[in-house]
Amino acid sequence: MKKLSVEAKLGLDLFHTDEENSHIDVDLECTDEEEIRKLVLACPAECYKYIDGKFSFSYLGCLECGTCRVLSHDKIVKGWKHPHGEIGVSFRQG
Ligand code: SF4
Repeated sequence: MKKLSVEAKLGLDLFHTDEENSHIDVDLECTDEEEIRKLVLACPAECYKYIDGKFSFSYLGCLECGTCRVLSHDKIVKGWKHPHGEIGVSFRQG
């Protein structure tokens, strides 16, 4: 069996996204660069971006690992819950 890269495995996952309701509430006004960089580096799906001093977030590719919630200690991530019903990620290759 051919060994797949992490990117290729993630590409097999299915996402049923709720385009209107984020399951993660993020304070995008935060200016604490140390806290921002923590989330940028830790998120396996690159949902957090910090480019040229601009902080952004998109929940659409979230893998629901909860890492950002644990790391943030309510400093940037103000709310985190699993998506409702069948919304969210469906893993195909573990
Ligand atoms: S739950 Fe995991 S994948 Fe989703 S935004 Fe947080 S760190 Fe990224």
